[in-house]
Amino acid sequence: MTRAVDPDRVERRIRIRGRVQGVGFRPTVFRIATELALDGDVRNDADGVTVRVAGAADAIDRFLARLERDRPPLARIDAIEATTIVEAIAPGFCVVPSEEGSPRTEIAPDARMCETCARELFDPEDRRCGYPFLTCTHCGPRLTIVTGAPYDRERTTMARFPLCVACAGEYGDPRDRRFHAEPIACPACGPHLRFAGGGVRDLDGVAAAIAGGAIVALKGLGGFQLVCDATNERAITTLRARKRRDAKPFALMARDVSVVRRYASVSTLEARLLASAEGPIVLLEASGAPLPDAVAPGLGTLGFMLPTTPLHALLLARSTTPVVATSANLSDAPPIIDDDAALDALAEVADVFVLHDRPIASRVDDSVVRVMDGEMRVLRRARGFAPSRLALPPGLEDAPSILACGAELKGTFCLVTGGALVLSPHQGDLGDAATFDDYRKNVALFTAMFAHAPSHVAHDQHPDYVSTHFARGCGLPTIAIQHHHAHVAACLAEEGRPLGTRVLGVVLDGVGFGDDATAWGGELLVADYRAATRVGGLVPVAMIGGDVAAREPWRNLVAHLQRAGLPLPASLAGAPVAAALAMLRADVNVPRASSCGRLFDAFAALLEVRPHRQAYEGEAATMLEALAAHGDGAPYPFALARTGAGLQIDPAPMWRTAVDDRARGTAPAAMAASFHRGLADALARAAAELCAEYTISRVVLSGGCFQNRVLFEATTAAMGRAGLSVSTHREIPPNDGGIALGQAVIAAARLVRG
Ligand code: ZN
Ligand code: ZN
Ligand code: FE
Repeated sequence: MTRAVDPDRVERRIRIRGRVQGVGFRPTVFRIATELALDGDVRNDADGVTVRVAGAADAIDRFLARLERDRPPLARIDAIEATTIVEAIAPGFCVVPSEEGSPRTEIAPDARMCETCARELFDPEDRRCGYPFLTCTHCGPRLTIVTGAPYDRERTTMARFPLCVACAGEYGDPRDRRFHAEPIACPACGPHLRFAGGGVRDLDGVAAAIAGGAIVALKGLGGFQLVCDATNERAITTLRARKRRDAKPFALMARDVSVVRRYASVSTLEARLLASAEGPIVLLEASGAPLPDAVAPGLGTLGFMLPTTPLHALLLARSTTPVVATSANLSDAPPIIDDDAALDALAEVADVFVLHDRPIASRVDDSVVRVMDGEMRVLRRARGFAPSRLALPPGLEDAPSILACGAELKGTFCLVTGGALVLSPHQGDLGDAATFDDYRKNVALFTAMFAHAPSHVAHDQHPDYVSTHFARGCGLPTIAIQHHHAHVAACLAEEGRPLGTRVLGVVLDGVGFGDDATAWGGELLVADYRAATRVGGLVPVAMIGGDVAAREPWRNLVAHLQRAGLPLPASLAGAPVAAALAMLRADVNVPRASSCGRLFDAFAALLEVRPHRQAYEGEAATMLEALAAHGDGAPYPFALARTGAGLQIDPAPMWRTAVDDRARGTAPAAMAASFHRGLADALARAAAELCAEYTISRVVLSGGCFQNRVLFEATTAAMGRAGLSVSTHREIPPNDGGIALGQAVIAAARLVRG
């Protein structure tokens, strides 16, 4: 070969770091190198992918440029380093098989079926036509089928399906788009569907059953789902009754965006998110043809997703009607993942079962995103997003290995490992025994997958969180972290702000354990990664009955109106007001909390929105937001007062105006809008004053209350008018799902030298 004696020939070693394993990176390298007539090889190693190339210098430059440009859809390149080497490289280009036991790699999240697979699925000429388990290197299950590390077929739930000759050929051919696609399968060698109940024998039968009003239990990617016709009120109310779920909104699935548009407004960005590889539930504004109120009672939003797996695509292709697709659990238990458990637990819930023999290794819930201020905000980070890693912020790169255990209601955990942060998918309410079992199992799985050996364990300061007990049981040094500080740090970390960044944190949530052992939840903190000092916040108000106040909004209305010296409305007649007042007078079981969540509950109760009992956490506040979204009113006045506890935001004047408005018969929507705007203005005034006092220019918004679009957008606008730079959450939830990540970076900052 003339190439071998070319005097212009140079040799380079190229190391690529990032999410480059298990995503079709090596075949892409192979294709580009072959097209550019370069010699060499490509292999996976502990740090990512290493390529050796030999050829003309300009061809190698083009090769490097195309690596960035033509990278596979699921890949993410963090760094490319090229060094000159002097090594004998044989003619031709080859893919070197993986060696055993390489840690520090990355498991990709599960990804929606890609366009090419979708075409094959509906191509009558293709051998995988109509096959519900087709995948390729660019799409399909990942985290949900992984049983260990490193990621290859032997350590997935596909290990039980030996490849047929045709699949083995594709798997071994670097020119094929299924080269090393670990979940590769076909009708001859892969998993198969099984049906039970209702005399159903195929997907046509399932579609007909749904059209007839049946409830179907369907084994999805990360867990079983319950599916029924979303336009059939009777089917939905039956599902609610059988599932014992009164009011929590149900997620919906539609064949394509054009079906979604019949029921909700969909922006360009929202359409892109619906069709993204992550395939999340997107919260959309309901508009157009109404769906039965039972889908999402009292809310102005609908949570839609598109089919993410071939199974969903095949089922939805049989109908132009959207379906309810909600997690198959009873009340607050975790969704079911096992066939036998589903048949048993859902016997009284589902009429028809769609099962299959590809086991789900770990439960992964659907992710939820919402567009606010024109950008995607992840509210629940799970399928499609987890376990993507985040780089450690500048200054924290040398942090030791850490396990952070998260909070409680929206449990997650986070690893600091190999210079990165790995946040687990949403685990659910750890107070539920079965959910906590999963949490423990997943900590073990992630520890193995990432070869993680933590030196420290971080946890919430709350002494009674299950995650706190878990952390203390690990037998390692522990670091207790204040809840709202963790919220702020999570936001700093996701923006990649360097160690030393100092901000004013505005953290609004239900309650979190404060530094003074009281309940906090409306905090203004001067914070960096290492420490946070409370410099102000909402005035503490009694929670009459303690935790019960979180479920019964009227208790918070009584406390707020009493504090403001205002009469109680007649609408509270049905509640045991006298007993509540007696508790206040006697100061018995009325802990003070600066909770923003309880302030929202109180205001909802004034408008008679779920005054007596909330069916789920945040129901009253979410309904209040729905009212405000369609209302118009001047901001209500909140007072700012200097006290020993810093700059306090006092809602008393707001209550006086609101009670007057109520007496005058002002529209509830206008009042709800005035409440949101007034709070946003007060936050901005307080932030401006504190930023000037502490010479800070950046404000961080965090906490579950910022899932509220009206509050979020009003607050960012007010902060902007006050001349403040604002940091907000995008990839990491503002709610307690982000706490573990915040704990991880705070612990890292305290442990790292410098
Ligand atoms: Zn594909
Ligand atoms: Zn096969
Ligand atoms: Fe919180």
